[in-house]
Amino acid sequence: MSNRRKFLRSSIFSSFGLLMSRKLQAGAPYVTMTGSPIVISTWDAGVAANAGAWKILGNNGRALDAVEAGVRVTEDSINCCVGLGANPDRDGFVTLDACIMDEKGNCGSVGFLERIKHPISVARRVMEKTPHVMLVGSGAQQFAVAEGFPLEEQKLSDDAKKAYEQWLKKSEYKPVINIENTKPKGHGPSAPAYLSNGELNHDTIGMVAMDAAGDLSGSCTTSGMGFKMRGRLGDSPIIGAGLFVDNEVGACTATGQGEDVIRICGSHTVVELMRQGMTPEQACKAAVERIIRIKGEKAKEIQVAFLALNKKGETGAFAIQKGFSYALKSNREEKLYTAKSWYL
Ligand code: ASP
Repeated sequence: MSNRRKFLRSSIFSSFGLLMSRKLQAGAPYVTMTGSPIVISTWDAGVAANAGAWKILGNNGRALDAVEAGVRVTEDSINCCVGLGANPDRDGFVTLDACIMDEKGNCGSVGFLERIKHPISVARRVMEKTPHVMLVGSGAQQFAVAEGFPLEEQKLSDDAKKAYEQWLKKSEYKPVINIENTKPKGHGPSAPAYLSNGELNHDTIGMVAMDAAGDLSGSCTTSGMGFKMRGRLGDSPIIGAGLFVDNEVGACTATGQGEDVIRICGSHTVVELMRQGMTPEQACKAAVERIIRIKGEKAKEIQVAFLALNKKGETGAFAIQKGFSYALKSNREEKLYTAKSWYL
């Protein structure tokens, strides 16, 4: 073999070896290395959350670290639907749900967690330090404390207190949405409080991201529906419902009425539809249509939205009601989009 051919052969093999070792490190056999990180997250609060994620993604960090750091920003802020200052359940307690999933199919989740500021980080510890996927209630809290998370005093934020007092007047447990309004102020049972004081900036935060190595991860964190029954879990802590990641295909997260997301294993459904060749938006729309078919006329009363990212870095969303916003950050843009919806 000539020296030139030997050189070519060895350099081809060493590049292949390098590529394979990166792929193996990345944990997925079919990874395309896009070198172009991207993060998307639900609602207006996603803008700040994406900025938190970008500190990691923009520095060639891992998507898993980015999606944890990103939604911690929302958990730290005072808002209706995420973190300790959020709307309580009907008995006046704030209970938090969160889950996280990485590019290797590892996942962790906590549900009905009280008095812990960062449920997303507890979910990550469940994933990394226990043989389980999901811990709930006092067991989740016990695990969090053992892991060094401080047990906070529950103190409702002024907004949550006002909203709860307002809700107590009627104690009506039913979803209310404002679909007449061109810019809906909210959705789900937490909406009435926000319709009364005219504000809604935040909701469940779901985030999915791809890092510079082309690996995907996702996170989702919420206080769930405001004024829910005590003990209620929605879709957000359920892998496959509120969040799903498949590193070969894409990732999806959901927001809105959790019961109806669970009914169709929403996020998993969207990822499987992308596997069959649909774009992220087509897949989100098809999942929404599935809910519409099941709910019939009752679909008018609820909001559900899906937000997805595929392996090519394409993004898309679709909602039942108008007004669902999502934030996108990449090397090229930083933008808040409004999703298309079933009802116009
Ligand atoms: N999906 C959340 C839940 O059902 C609520 C929301 O997104 O507003 O708990």
